[in-house]
Amino acid sequence: MPFYTEDQSKIISNLFPERAEEYNQLLESFGDFVEKEILPTARTIDKQGIFPKENMDKIFRQGFTNIPYPQDLEGLGLPYPIYIACMELVGKACASTAISLAIHGTVCDGLYRFGNREQHEKYLKDLITGRKLAAFGLTESNAGSDARAMTTQAILDSSGHWKINGSKMYITNSAKADYYFVFAKTDKGYAAILVPNETQGFSWGSNITKMGLRGSSLMGLNFDNVLVPKENLVGENGEGFEYAKKMLFGGRITIAALSVGIAQAALEKTITYSKEREAFGKHLSEFEITRAKVADMMTEIHGARLMTYYAALLKGREQDFGIEACEAKLYATEMALRVCNHAIQIHGGYGYTDEADVHRHWRDAKLMTIGEGTSEIMQVIISGKAFE
Ligand SMILES: Cc1cc2nc3c(=O)[nH]c(=O)nc-3n(C[C@H](O)[C@H](O)[C@H](O)COP(=O)(O)OP(=O)(O)OC[C@H]3O[C@@H](n4cnc5c(N)ncnc54)[C@H](O)[C@@H]3O)c2cc1C
Repeated sequence: MPFYTEDQSKIISNLFPERAEEYNQLLESFGDFVEKEILPTARTIDKQGIFPKENMDKIFRQGFTNIPYPQDLEGLGLPYPIYIACMELVGKACASTAISLAIHGTVCDGLYRFGNREQHEKYLKDLITGRKLAAFGLTESNAGSDARAMTTQAILDSSGHWKINGSKMYITNSAKADYYFVFAKTDKGYAAILVPNETQGFSWGSNITKMGLRGSSLMGLNFDNVLVPKENLVGENGEGFEYAKKMLFGGRITIAALSVGIAQAALEKTITYSKEREAFGKHLSEFEITRAKVADMMTEIHGARLMTYYAALLKGREQDFGIEACEAKLYATEMALRVCNHAIQIHGGYGYTDEADVHRHWRDAKLMTIGEGTSEIMQVIISGKAFE
């Protein structure tokens, strides 16, 4: 079975009928690369908690974050759903690698949309090509879902610098990033400021261990009278919170894609195992109850994939995509948990063991229902549309 699935290929063909052959060839070859180069280390990365820098560099060399950006920024100028299809493939191979890339991609998106030409030249080119790595700093100890409650503060001082004080919590790529896209309170509301990692007064906390995505780096960030030039303000002072919301809408499509990839990996392992394992003189795959579960897994994955690629199409066409992104994230992330749960169940006792390497997918999927806005916050946003 090719790593790039038939279902992905059919959707891409129908989204882009005129370029179907070209895009499918590209994605098939990206899938082959991911299967050969990324998949084999995924288990060790999880077991040993290794930051997947090597994987990320290999993927950057293939061209990945630069897929949807214009060529004058060293982008590939391809449609956004192609990036999302690649994200699904990386998620299927190694979710720790995919989450680190997804967060990096969210920063690239924000810098592209809200940064100026100088920032594009100075920072964005290096980021989309993977020469530099980014982190997204929004969450604080008392400001998660309620991000407006942040207390990190930035003041423009008389020397033309933003002076930042405060701390952030649960930041992916922390300690590994070159640039931090930091949100802070200012005299005009909120601002987004780019902080380079070598800035004096800036530090990160210790590594936070977690149930899944064990290769990704998670730490807090501390700002103790950190001074960055006023030119590092992204967009307008006062608009920072709006930028965060818009970046998260885009990020949610990547989280949905990653979840579809995780679920696809669990499904494929389950199909293989159920054709091998015997009970009562039959293969598990011959039991109707097993088949019904597999049918539900396939149907849910297909549904989530359609929602995700559709949200990506809207984003790429610069149409409103916020609600569709939240719906895709809500459905795909909860779906991935259901699919991984079936996968463990069909693997029986073996599924519960480390040896089977099936519960890794459930552990990885769980974060997807929390990060970049919890499932409950997705419900708040989506239902808000119904009652506006
Ligand atoms: C592995 C990992 C990686 C992360 N990476 C990043 C990162 O790179 N950058 C970053 O800024 N943050 C990051 N985060 C933080 C993440 O975005 C937050 O954890 C998440 O938004 C939830 O916030 P919280 O943990 O404070 O939960 P809380 O906001 O305290 O929520 C607790 C519970 O209450 C529910 N709840 C809250 N408000 C409502 C409401 N209005 N209605 C109904 N239910 C509600 C929530 O859904 C949740 O179930 C990461 C977190 C983890 C675990």
